[in-house]
Amino acid sequence: MLINLLFPPRCPGCGTWGVRLCARCAALFGPPVPVPGVGPPVFALAAYAGAARELVLAFKERGRRELAAVFGALVAAALPELPGVGPDPWLVPAPSRASAARARGGSHVLGVARASGASTAPALAFARGVRDSVRLDGASRQANLAGRVRLVPDHLPPPKASLVLLDDVVTTGSTARECVAVLKAGGFRVSAVLTLTTAHRTHPHG
Ligand SMILES: [Zn+2]
Repeated sequence: MLINLLFPPRCPGCGTWGVRLCARCAALFGPPVPVPGVGPPVFALAAYAGAARELVLAFKERGRRELAAVFGALVAAALPELPGVGPDPWLVPAPSRASAARARGGSHVLGVARASGASTAPALAFARGVRDSVRLDGASRQANLAGRVRLVPDHLPPPKASLVLLDDVVTTGSTARECVAVLKAGGFRVSAVLTLTTAHRTHPHG
């Protein structure tokens, strides 16, 4: 196709020309592995490093929206492997800042949840005034978030559903903790947190 001559595909993970996603980068994402020290059980598919990190950033910041299908398939494969979750869990995407989500054409984590085929409830949103937490350390991040995640009444999951919070990167776990606390306060049962990647340094895929 002409479009491929003008814009040949390139792996967003490592930059290899001629492929949309190379096998080596795809293989960086493995079965869910528990990440310690976050509170609720958190499982990650890859370390937030190298090409896996590039893939997440390409999807999130550089418009490679087609990676939603790749990540969605990984999430679909991981859900049955999560201990204590049970069949047919509902996914609740971690919230995106509204401005960031608009710039990306909708919440990217919601896109992954929908692409997984699992029941999805975008039940969480950031209240106004949440700063981008990328440059904040753990304590500042927690302070930045405290009381700033809210339930979205129109998008709640069924009351008895087993919920899995879905995120793209878990670093300190403060966002995940806040989200789980808000869902629990709303009477919901959060069985696990599933993240595409983690910056936690104990991840064995790293
Ligand atoms: Zn690659």
